[in-house]
Amino acid sequence: MNIALNLSLADNYKSPAQQARVVTESWAQDNLYCAACDSIRVERTPNNTEGSDFYCGSCRSSYQLKASKSDFGARVVDGAYEAMLRSLRAKSSPHLLLLRYDVNSSCVRRLILIPRHFISSSSIERRKPLASHARRAGWIGCYINLERVPDDGKITLIDSGKVATRRLVRERFGKTSDLSRLSFSARGWALDVLTMIRGMRKMRFSLADVYSYEQVFKEKYPGNRHIRPKIRQQLQVLRDMGLVDFLGTGQYHLRYSA
Ligand SMILES: [Zn+2]
Repeated sequence: MNIALNLSLADNYKSPAQQARVVTESWAQDNLYCAACDSIRVERTPNNTEGSDFYCGSCRSSYQLKASKSDFGARVVDGAYEAMLRSLRAKSSPHLLLLRYDVNSSCVRRLILIPRHFISSSSIERRKPLASHARRAGWIGCYINLERVPDDGKITLIDSGKVATRRLVRERFGKTSDLSRLSFSARGWALDVLTMIRGMRKMRFSLADVYSYEQVFKEKYPGNRHIRPKIRQQLQVLRDMGLVDFLGTGQYHLRYSA
């Protein structure tokens, strides 16, 4: 992976958005590889394939590239809300790539991969419908809230211009790929519990630690009157996914650092 961008590709375009797109997509075409299999390249999807920019010719994984000159904030703007939910339920949404580039040094500074199974009902936020004077009045988009994606789901490919090895990226991808077996609705809870555990910033934790967040879950799931059993069930799910080990007597251990 070479972090240099070819800015001269932008010369034929006037709008800054188009310029950024042509430069970063060309970079991705030359440098991206598949994290889900051992393919060393990805292909561009035919134009106008909704929501997906690249795909792996080997395993058919698809990727969506979002590029920005500045750091991505807590929320990333995505496409239509209902279409997003539909594709997540159908397990057909792409993996997300967040690329930050720097024009002055014409380099990619940061590239993060969020596997699609880390995007759940919790991390998708519905935006307000577009106002009546807008061209697409009433259209409802969505955000992806990155704070609700556990660190396990933010795989670094490039950080401060430093490139991670393909082996490391695929290893991290593989450790959590069992999550993709969960249904969209089951994944929301499991990822909420995992995000909360990661937020404690310690590898070993107790059931009491997790219960201390009971109120947070109550507010998030007001219809659920069995929060504690649900939390215990999710710990079992995370154990079955190979992410948490049970040590006995209410003690647990995260299997990997994220
Ligand atoms: Zn692949």
